Amino acid sequence: MDDLASLSIAVVGGGPTAVALLESLIHSRNTIGPDVSLEVSVFDPTSNPWCGRSFAPDRPEALTNTYTNTMSVRHWQPEHVGIWLKTHGYAEFAGNNFAPRALIGRYFKESARQAASIMEDFTFIREQVTGLTVVDDRVRVYTQNGSHAFDYAILSVGSSDRFDPYGLEGQESFCIRPYPLKDALAGVDLDEHIGIIGTGLTAVDLVMALKADKHRGRITLFSRNGLLPAVRPPSLNYELQRFTVKAIEERAAVKGGLTLADLVHLVHEELDQACTSPEPIKDEIFSTRYGIDRLRHQLMHIDDGRVAYAILIKTLLVLQDAWYFLNPADKARVAGFRHIYCSLCCPMPRTRAAQILDLAEAGQLEVVRGVSSVTKDEGGQFVAVAADHPPFHFDRVFSAGSSGNEPDRKAIPLVDTLLRSGEGRAHPFGGLDIERTTSRLLDVNGRPQPRLYAVGTMTSGAFQVLNGYIVLMRRTAHIADTILQHHQERRNRSSGHRAGDVVENA
Ligand SMILES: Cc1cc2nc3c(=O)[nH]c(=O)nc-3n(C[C@H](O)[C@H](O)[C@H](O)COP(=O)(O)OP(=O)(O)OC[C@H]3O[C@@H](n4cnc5c(N)ncnc54)[C@H](O)[C@@H]3O)c2cc1C
Repeated sequence: MDDLASLSIAVVGGGPTAVALLESLIHSRNTIGPDVSLEVSVFDPTSNPWCGRSFAPDRPEALTNTYTNTMSVRHWQPEHVGIWLKTHGYAEFAGNNFAPRALIGRYFKESARQAASIMEDFTFIREQVTGLTVVDDRVRVYTQNGSHAFDYAILSVGSSDRFDPYGLEGQESFCIRPYPLKDALAGVDLDEHIGIIGTGLTAVDLVMALKADKHRGRITLFSRNGLLPAVRPPSLNYELQRFTVKAIEERAAVKGGLTLADLVHLVHEELDQACTSPEPIKDEIFSTRYGIDRLRHQLMHIDDGRVAYAILIKTLLVLQDAWYFLNPADKARVAGFRHIYCSLCCPMPRTRAAQILDLAEAGQLEVVRGVSSVTKDEGGQFVAVAADHPPFHFDRVFSAGSSGNEPDRKAIPLVDTLLRSGEGRAHPFGGLDIERTTSRLLDVNGRPQPRLYAVGTMTSGAFQVLNGYIVLMRRTAHIADTILQHHQERRNRSSGHRAGDVVENA
């Protein structure tokens, strides 16, 4: 009997990326080992399986910030999400459009249910994973209630949703988690002066929800740099020709790594190829404008540099590989531009930008930078101090900032066990170190672990760019192929040995 006819896999974290993992595992099984039985267990204590922290049921103002056509759970079928939207009566959200994130959450849930039904064995275990170790070629997964053994394990845990730079947690009228919006905004008085920590897409969701509620009080958004998400340019039907993974690999192979200058050079080649100038991008990167002035300028000029800017957004697809090869000194330099990069490459829809500008011009909304402290005074109001401004007084404060690539707190004990045993090693720029093309964990000696994989936040140091579902979904394809290939090789070796035994016995 073939004792390797089945393959058991633990997926730690049951968010949107896990859905893509299920789909990719089925696809790889069908192409690499069609007779292998897939036995998959997903661990997550969440009350919202498959939605993660960003796609759970919520108000419609919690909107996708990428076109829905980038949100397919199938790497080989990008139109899958559009088909689902059309079949379920939501054609208006398909293609180059944005949708309520809760709707995409429904798509994730339904896709996961279908994928699970195709597998020979599937279990969702509502428990937090607290440890992982490989013993005798099996991965042991520990939870608070016991342990389970698998052939492979994939870490697919997300990032932290806590951002509290001023230590306000626990204060009345301070909301540390802005989602679901429907809970966060419950009880807000229409005349309250609202302070929002953060000026990114979450802050924009909050403003849109307050606007929908016909909020009358002032709204102040504040952050270190005061950069709102840029205004998304019209979509561009263009495929990158020069700034590609292949070009990056070739250049890195010749030079033994990449410099920032190499990457800038490739971007310039790409823009030349598209017969467009880099000037609009340079203008944005090195601009001194911020807040509402910057938004107004972008809305006025968005069509001037739209090709260059749309191409810049597309480079996101390749940036994980580019970052992987970039030398450490340039990685450190680039980190200083992260806020600009996030603003440019995670832009907001033009209609939202126009509404923000309207609120600002009506005197209801402002964007402030350089806030150094937020405290609560004796009267129960929050007081924010910013350079060049009199103190701001807020009735209520929301945290809408980003904790960057800081991992979900629930994942920390698990990562600690891997680091302590040496089965994983810390990446100098955060998270766990992995092999680029397979996402296998590297052990303390830099050896790839064939049984342990990571995708998403835990790969933040290796890949840095994690804020697009399409990027994470594509990595799941590498992982699934690598697991199926590794399993097939073992199977071939095992059947070779058995054939040898038969000949010997004969
Ligand atoms: C507000 C917001 C809006 C976004 N909008 C978009 C968008 O429109 N388009 C887009 O492409 N991307 C968007 N993103 C990026 C988005 O986060 C990712 O695309 C996607 O949600 C990542 O999914 P994930 O499964 O990797 O992580 P998560 O969604 O964070 O899910 C990870 C899961 O792991 C679980 N977990 C953690 N630790 C453990 C443990 N120890 N044991 C068991 N389970 C554990 C958690 O409970 C969680 O359910 C958005 C992000 C945010 C914050």
